[in-house]
Amino acid sequence: MSYLVYARKYRPRTFSQVVGQQHISRTLLNSIRSGRLAHALIFNGPRGVGKTSMARILAKSLNCLQPDDGEPCGQCDNCRSIDHGSFLDVMEIDAASNRGIDAIKSLIEEVHYAPSTGMVKVYIIDEFHMLTKEAFNAFLKTLEEPPEHTIFVLATTDLHKVNQTILSRCQRHDFRRIAPSEMTQALGDILRQEQVEFEPDALKLIAQNSEGCMRDAESILDRVVSYSGDHIISADVMELLGIAGNDLLISIFTALQQQDLSRILEALQQAGQRGTDMQPLTAQLMQMCRAIYLARIGVEQRDLDSMTRSALQELGSSFDVTQIDIMYSILRECFVEMKHSPFPQYDLEFALFKCTQLAPSVEVDRLLAAMEATPNQHQELPEDPGLPPQPSPATQKKTPEPASHQELTDISRLQQQLVKELAQEQPHVAALLHNSQLRRGDSDESYVLMVPPHQREFFTEEKQQTLQKNLSALVQKPSRLVLRSDATSTSLAAQESQLQEQRSEQLRQQLLQDEMYQDIVRRFQGSLHSFRLLKPGDVGDQA
Ligand SMILES: [Zn+2]
Repeated sequence: MSYLVYARKYRPRTFSQVVGQQHISRTLLNSIRSGRLAHALIFNGPRGVGKTSMARILAKSLNCLQPDDGEPCGQCDNCRSIDHGSFLDVMEIDAASNRGIDAIKSLIEEVHYAPSTGMVKVYIIDEFHMLTKEAFNAFLKTLEEPPEHTIFVLATTDLHKVNQTILSRCQRHDFRRIAPSEMTQALGDILRQEQVEFEPDALKLIAQNSEGCMRDAESILDRVVSYSGDHIISADVMELLGIAGNDLLISIFTALQQQDLSRILEALQQAGQRGTDMQPLTAQLMQMCRAIYLARIGVEQRDLDSMTRSALQELGSSFDVTQIDIMYSILRECFVEMKHSPFPQYDLEFALFKCTQLAPSVEVDRLLAAMEATPNQHQELPEDPGLPPQPSPATQKKTPEPASHQELTDISRLQQQLVKELAQEQPHVAALLHNSQLRRGDSDESYVLMVPPHQREFFTEEKQQTLQKNLSALVQKPSRLVLRSDATSTSLAAQESQLQEQRSEQLRQQLLQDEMYQDIVRRFQGSLHSFRLLKPGDVGDQA
């Protein structure tokens, strides 16, 4: 018998064999058992996740001569001929290649004949959204008065291109990308049947590089088995896929953190020698960036081995969230651009050099949390239970407030408000805005945003529109926002941190003057060791 690729050899043949789509298998089985299956079904989802397989299983289930509680037997004549694609009452049409109205017309003409050998005629129309408008309309008439004993399965990877009226006539099923854990499980099952040994990590790598598409995963597995023989190891998978190991990725981020350009070059060269392609490598760096971010905000990543996890912890604590965010943007842009580049490696080198230039910034989320906790902090000093009672009027006189440095300007407060409003929906825009300085323009409705030159390129047209729209809403009149690259202006983040320092110093002075404090110091013969402002959350943590 000729060689069958795994995707065909291990194609699921019953509802229970379909990987990762249990929610749909269950719904369909229940509908079949209760005799309440709709006449037209939409199977929506990415490619290679089992839509056509599910449709064929459904066709078998409806035509099987000895079904077992809704599951097709797989043995009877009908099941077998559907599996072989020779059953007359199951029609598969690829709309991507039969787009015209003629194809649909001939389908509609046939629709009204009773099934020839089976019980139910099943039309499986793949890439349904590709039909022309006329074909859609012709088809709609059939859907309005569906012939008996006929089921339509309309599979699509692009639901929003499907006509709304047709959508409303169909029962919709959304297929998911297959989760990595389910995928490794399924790949392992195949290898056990093939009697091929494997390292579990090798299958994880395949799953990570298939983007939830089972068909892709199986095709990679085919190639790996041809390459490695009866024992699959991770190194073979990496070599075959042209991808880098976690150790290399971590060494690149460590070099970024240490601003070690020569080590970055070395790592890329090493990757090139191992046959790693630059574009997948960039994608892997993006994934790693996300993993660092998750580590930074304390999300546990169980999929990773303990060594990688602890390396990520370390990297996470050495970058702040804004830096990680911007690094991700730089890498993403590089990934898109390098498709058209004659020198992908140079692109990646320059992108990584750019990443080394990112200075740590003040963390937006911490500042926002602080602002929310003390909404009037520009006007009033925060009340703090960790500090001694307010000084008496007598002591206050000794420390006049440096009033001129107490508050943000009106325009900065407006910017602060804007950052706060954007933080939830558009955290990236909020972070960029926070690292810039808003100024008034020449007229009432114009504003200028002073942006650090290295961040200028992240303000895409779309982001500028978002800013302008939100600004207009905030000041309640149509406003115009102009961007200007400027390395010298003080960003809102920097202003806030200066203010925080001033406040802290002022409170420290007040404390030193406080009679009760002086009394305590005298009694215990102590001195002020350190002083910092606490947020309400901090106090709770320590309690
Ligand atoms: Zn059967």
